[in-house]
Amino acid sequence: HWSLNNFDIGRPLGKGHFGKVYLARVKSKTDPFILVLKCLTKDEVITKQVQMQVRREIEVMQSLRHPNIIRLFGWFHDSTRIFLMLELAGKGELFKQLAKKGKFSERRSSQYISQVASGLNYLHSKNIIHRDIKPENLLLGMNGEIKIGDFGWSVYSPEENSQRTLAGTLSYVSPEMILGQSYGKAIDIWALGVLTFELTCGEEPFGADTTGGPRLVHQRICRCDIRFPPYLSLEAKDFIQSLLRFRPEERLPLDQVDQQPWIASHR
Ligand code: ADP
Ligand code: MG
Ligand code: MG
Repeated sequence: HWSLNNFDIGRPLGKGHFGKVYLARVKSKTDPFILVLKCLTKDEVITKQVQMQVRREIEVMQSLRHPNIIRLFGWFHDSTRIFLMLELAGKGELFKQLAKKGKFSERRSSQYISQVASGLNYLHSKNIIHRDIKPENLLLGMNGEIKIGDFGWSVYSPEENSQRTLAGTLSYVSPEMILGQSYGKAIDIWALGVLTFELTCGEEPFGADTTGGPRLVHQRICRCDIRFPPYLSLEAKDFIQSLLRFRPEERLPLDQVDQQPWIASHR
């Protein structure tokens, strides 16, 4: 029962692949609620063949309630666009903070990682794989808390884990995905390891040199060829290595993240 007439549209907050994301306010004297409208252009959704992705983004997000996951309040469409009504993450993208700072302190990084792990653990308990964990899709709430967003790549597991789509972003892709094997929830745990490295070191663990294609990066990923900078603490390295394991079943279970020395010592 929602339509664009119910909202005052404010400033653009970001650009998505299929349209823009706006700050908005519900037109109401009693409850002028502030939220976010993510606008998807139907034309582009159809041209890029992502109807399924959009459907899943809506279906998955609507079923989730967790302090570290962006809420979807509802959705509607008009003749040309689809609108998602999202919880506002007042402090924007983690990516922007990271770009500004270069890298984060280990304390700050470990607090973010603990919150991402908590959100992911909840998702996995509902048999959902996010598949696109990276700083651009992690937002920050008004108190600086992590809010996982962008469920466009998410899938249900295990029903679809035989699917072999090479999803996600080059440097966050796991070995089993590169090798075209079936994969499951452990790809998010791998991505958490890549994220930990990127937050603490300010760069990607397997390099970003794609002159000549993604082969070199893929090769380093499949060899778990991580090169740690000298300033990183032993606890941080241990933690990263416990996530970036070639064999999915050897990766640290998410419910054990908070007990790890690197996380526990910074809480
Ligand atoms: P896409 O699926 O096209 O990548 P995203 O959902 O990642 O779109 O949104 C694009 C950008 O819009 C984000 O990177 C972020 O900057 C901004 N954005 C999206 N959702 C929110 C939100 N709930 N609160 C604040 N900013 C948001
Ligand atoms: Mg995104
Ligand atoms: Mg998306």
